[in-house]
Amino acid sequence: MNDAALMPYDDVLAAFDPALGLEVHVELNTASKMFCGCPATFGGEPNAGTCPTCLGLPGAMPVVNGKAVESAIRIGLALNCDIAEWCRFARKNYFYPDMPKNFQTSQYDEPIAFDGWMDVDVDGETFRVEIERAHMEEDTGKSLHVGGATGRIHGADYSLVDYNRAGIPLIEIVTRPILGAGEKAPEVAKAYVSQLRELIVALGVSEARMDQGNLRADVNLSLSPKGSGTLGTRTETKNVNSFRSVERAVRYEMQRHAVILSDGGSILQETRHWHEDTGITTSGREKSDAEDYRYFPEPDLVPVAPSREWVDELRGTLPENPTARRARLQEEWGFSDLDMRDTIGAGALGLVEETIAAGATPQAARKWWLGELARRSNEDGVDLVDLAITPADVARVQALVDDKTVNDKLARQVIEGVLAGEGTPDEVVAGRGLAVVSDDGALGAAVDKAISENPDVADKIRDGKHAAAGALIGAVMKEMRGQADAARVRELILEKLA
Ligand SMILES: [Zn+2]
Repeated sequence: MNDAALMPYDDVLAAFDPALGLEVHVELNTASKMFCGCPATFGGEPNAGTCPTCLGLPGAMPVVNGKAVESAIRIGLALNCDIAEWCRFARKNYFYPDMPKNFQTSQYDEPIAFDGWMDVDVDGETFRVEIERAHMEEDTGKSLHVGGATGRIHGADYSLVDYNRAGIPLIEIVTRPILGAGEKAPEVAKAYVSQLRELIVALGVSEARMDQGNLRADVNLSLSPKGSGTLGTRTETKNVNSFRSVERAVRYEMQRHAVILSDGGSILQETRHWHEDTGITTSGREKSDAEDYRYFPEPDLVPVAPSREWVDELRGTLPENPTARRARLQEEWGFSDLDMRDTIGAGALGLVEETIAAGATPQAARKWWLGELARRSNEDGVDLVDLAITPADVARVQALVDDKTVNDKLARQVIEGVLAGEGTPDEVVAGRGLAVVSDDGALGAAVDKAISENPDVADKIRDGKHAAAGALIGAVMKEMRGQADAARVRELILEKLA
């Protein structure tokens, strides 16, 4: 693995302007595949969800999935795109073992949606990202390389192919070059993918889980000499599978390009692999702009010509505009600009919203997602949405605090248990025996013990120095492993030493 030299980030910015480009693949949640009736669910018995069409057998005829076209149009409209009055599918010819037809049915010069934009919030500023196109295509199958140490083909004894995923509908959303982001380029890239995901979730067209591969980002980056107004040679880092990795990959490529360019070298136009564990990219394959995929219109499918009436009808089904939604939520929740900026920056807007819908107050929802859970997501190197806890769980944890079943400290242990897969918050409380004890019998015994072990403190309290009770409360808490009802303990101490 070639661990490249990197330029300090500030030095990169002094000498270069970054240009970003993002290609995001969204796997649709339709019931069936893009061109056949096979189930569009990946997983299960390998190759069970296949038929002659998605296996590319001779003579098999594809039929377009109407629901997938509907989802594509809704995504296009939500991204402020124009919707084609007439467009076709095209064959993108290349060989790859997990692509049974030896071509991918995609769209080429006639995408279903084009010329759109999305406004992205970064640190309280709005950044407009222009969308070049959103087009329909199909997913490939999946290769499994067996016997090697890394799971990659190199060093493997043999490979297996599962075609269950082949033909699942994808929408590829491509931005225009994003210029002028400067030092914030990594954050803009992350915010774009994160806020695009929220839009996709609001549309209800995909599960949009990055860790499950429902949403996959390819990150293009190039540098040009500062102020030159030109575009440099780009690299494309493939399949970056979390928001934080998008940010890290952009930063890494900026620092790597800068060293090469300032040494008088040139950037090789290529795809690169992102390595989550080491936080670096490595060379993939060389890629020219004029790669010859021998595109031609798909002869087995009729053109797609959505009527204007249908497009208008779909426009009426769009979720609230994201900018309006953020403003409305901020008002409803009573968040300050800073609270809101932090919530959006953490990719927690939807999570906080769902936690509130499940019964928590806005303040409590924000406290957990931006506090304890943000800490855990940083520690584990995963996005908040990928933590193994649901908004409903978080709301339940807060409810357990509110009804005094647990205190704040114990609540953190409940969260730890949920994240560790020990069950729901209630199951963790029962399983770990975490409930706060407020029963006078059990508390009284612990209080008596603390008094007898700390006679000096007890005397002070008898003399009216009630502030000294803190030391005894601490002793009782320690004795009861943090599970005593502190307020009741204090009352008992003062009663006993009155
Ligand atoms: Zn099929």
